[in-house]
Amino acid sequence: MKIFTEKDESFTCEHCNKKVNPLIYSSRDHCPYCLYSKHVDINPGDRENTCKGLLKPIEIEKYKDTYKILYQC
Ligand SMILES: [Zn+2]
Ligand SMILES: [Zn+2]
Repeated sequence: MKIFTEKDESFTCEHCNKKVNPLIYSSRDHCPYCLYSKHVDINPGDRENTCKGLLKPIEIEKYKDTYKILYQC
């Protein structure tokens, strides 16, 4: 049974070159190894940003039971 959403795909991290497998429950856009992300969203998940630069993780905030990563482009 297919429960994946279309946006959820594997990618190779441009910072550490590790292969990142898709998440089942959400579309992932950051690398779980080095936490770097790519500047592709204006609003989360929309992929509307044309910057496409590497986002450097500068701070991690714990928010309830999830983590919010703050980035610098
Ligand atoms: Zn990485
Ligand atoms: Zn940017």
